[in-house]
Amino acid sequence: MKQRLSIQAYTDGILSGNRMVLSRAITLIESNLAEDKILSQELLESILPYSGKSIRLGITGVPGVGKSTFIESFGKYLTSQQKKIAVLAIDPSSQMTKGSILGDKTRMEELSREPLAYIRPSPTGNSLGGVSHKTRESILLCEAAGFETIIIETVGVGQSETYVHGMVDFFLLLMLAGAGDELQGIKKGIMEMADLIAINKADSGNETQANLAKIEYENALHLFPSNGSGWYPKVVTCSATEKRGIAEIWELVEKHREILTKSGKFAENRQQQNLTWMHDFIKQNLEENFYRNHNVSTKTKEVQKAVSEGKKPPIKAALELLDIFYKSS
Ligand code: GDP
Repeated sequence: MKQRLSIQAYTDGILSGNRMVLSRAITLIESNLAEDKILSQELLESILPYSGKSIRLGITGVPGVGKSTFIESFGKYLTSQQKKIAVLAIDPSSQMTKGSILGDKTRMEELSREPLAYIRPSPTGNSLGGVSHKTRESILLCEAAGFETIIIETVGVGQSETYVHGMVDFFLLLMLAGAGDELQGIKKGIMEMADLIAINKADSGNETQANLAKIEYENALHLFPSNGSGWYPKVVTCSATEKRGIAEIWELVEKHREILTKSGKFAENRQQQNLTWMHDFIKQNLEENFYRNHNVSTKTKEVQKAVSEGKKPPIKAALELLDIFYKSS
């Protein structure tokens, strides 16, 4: 087993902003060892009173839209204002390739050298759900370590956005002009989750197109029903490489927080997210235990065959397997 610290040592290190201890604590919560899981939960309980004070910002967009360039510019803008920023990631590709969107050392090179910034590559895991729990817990640790803005990056192509949306206060979608939603692979559901759409690469003669895209997306957003938070999603243009539009985006993030804090929606949203998180974990845990159950797994193949050959109704088959599970657990 790896060398672990005591709960007190982890807690003291994190609260004093010691990054090495923070990294070791994140490694601990990412571990799948049973004894580490117990220690992690004790640690999380110990730091919980010191968490929650950041702005949690989700950023998504298809590969190549400029996410890491944007986060680098945005992060450096914040650190120039003496704000502490942490960058975490949920990376669906890492499930398959064991790669990671933040794993490539050349990404966000300048930001990673900033003393006020902390960048952590995406954890690997068997399921996106499992990875997402670890990222949520990492957010709490980073907050206890004093990071005021936490960015969660993900690739805008599927399920991971829903997880990220469920753990952040503000959801930013980066888009390109002239590529069309279809081409960009962005689903309507992802646009609907956005608090802000930023059309990136509005530079090098691309400004007019970017402004046209802005109007187009503004019109599209009008078609979505209001979520009742008092905030109406906005569209802006920006250039991550030329650092244009970055300060304005931060202003909108702050404005959003101000409006939602006044209406009580900010706290309500976080409460709701915590409840959803708890229930998600229960569901995931039950499902894992179910399929890991020896009696269930020996019977599953046979039952699946019967269902696919139309010899057994699916629900009857499911009830049979559930019955085996309950009797043997
Ligand atoms: P990611 O895959 O979404 O993280 O995208 P990257 O940040 O790696 O950017 C992909 C490419 O687009 C790189 O070559 C960047 O230099 C370029 N890029 C990113 N932002 C901008 C921008 O604002 N303007 C221009 N012209 N190029 C950009």
